[in-house]
Amino acid sequence: MSETILVLNAGSSSLKFQLFAIEHRQKLDRLVKGQVEGIGVDPHLVMKSARGEILKDLRWPAGELATPHQALEQVVQALREYLGGALPVAVGHRVVHGGIHFSAPTVIDGDVIERLEPLVPLAPLHQPHNLTPIKIIHERLPNVVQVACFDTAFHRTHSTLADRYAIPESLYAEGVRRYGFHGLSYEFIAERLKTIAPSIAQGKIIVAHLGSGASMCAISNGKSIDSTMGFTALDGLPMGTRPGQLDAGVVLFLVQQKGMAPAQVEHFLYHDCGLKGLSGVSNDVRVLLASKEPNARLALDYFVYRIAAFAGALAATMEGLDGFVFTAGIGENAPAIRTAVAKRLAWLGLEMDEQANEHGDPLISTGQSRIACYVIPTDEELMIARHTLDCMEASNTRLGKEVR
Ligand code: ADP
Repeated sequence: MSETILVLNAGSSSLKFQLFAIEHRQKLDRLVKGQVEGIGVDPHLVMKSARGEILKDLRWPAGELATPHQALEQVVQALREYLGGALPVAVGHRVVHGGIHFSAPTVIDGDVIERLEPLVPLAPLHQPHNLTPIKIIHERLPNVVQVACFDTAFHRTHSTLADRYAIPESLYAEGVRRYGFHGLSYEFIAERLKTIAPSIAQGKIIVAHLGSGASMCAISNGKSIDSTMGFTALDGLPMGTRPGQLDAGVVLFLVQQKGMAPAQVEHFLYHDCGLKGLSGVSNDVRVLLASKEPNARLALDYFVYRIAAFAGALAATMEGLDGFVFTAGIGENAPAIRTAVAKRLAWLGLEMDEQANEHGDPLISTGQSRIACYVIPTDEELMIARHTLDCMEASNTRLGKEVR
């Protein structure tokens, strides 16, 4: 069996994982993908082969597998069985916030962990969960190389103007900045464009990452210029359960007039707003598309309206637009949403090829369209595995020797 890299993406109640084989020290082959969902509530581990065959399907009563620690132990156990007792030589982690200092994937040691801890207040719902498996593996399996890959890192190329809020300098110095997120997805798409659409890969592109979290990124010459997300993953586009751009005065209203405590406001903004709050039906675009409720329609119309409005803004930041890319759960799978967005961008010169759009072809614009439009499936886990391999090579880790 080849050496392997494990990729972990730890959330508040889920732990997603993928295992890649390292072929000839450079090529990565996906072996398995899986997740533990419902940690502490209704724990369920599913592990599948790269072709989708179920390799493990385990459920536990709510009381068991109550912590991320226990979930990780089960994942390690399942992978040990799969690998015949061996361990991955390295683990690549998705870490949401890299703060001011981390602008590239980083090999994790005790010092890095200490520097990641203070970033928890910048991403209170994500960062602690990202750090938990890092700390456990650091303690339990000290010979396994760990690499942190940051969602913010790809956006560190932003200019000062894109990086700032109009607030006093002292808060900027403390880290209140427009970081931007989904960077691993954007980086993957920017790379992929070089193969799929070399003629525009160096041009001015907007990528719309439309999943349960959603954002858009202006990419020029392969580099992030601006993003719809800012200090936290709440800003910009409306999402499944997050409102997107919101006048800060609304938060003051909730606190001062509605008497909501900070924790209640946080829960409200992360869980009760967005498509779910607006429709009163669901946070899932599949359900909204099938629903006859007028507010389901309203929520989708609002989603499309905001995508188009931000597209105009991002095109302005680049002073032009050559290409538009749809990606992530909604972007890859909802032709009706893509059509609606394209109609609103017709003034920019986007002309959609409806047949290609229905098929989900990579190129979904017509030959005459002034803006080339693509559907490109994202692969954040592969990006993390690539970074992890690069970091191992760069730090001269001798595969299969030091790391066991
Ligand atoms: P995340 O990784 O942020 O959890 P995904 O990128 O997997 O999210 O996107 C999940 C969302 O994609 C779902 O909430 C759903 O709204 C949407 N989605 C998935 N499949 C479809 C589909 N066939 N049609 C429309 N929307 C879809």
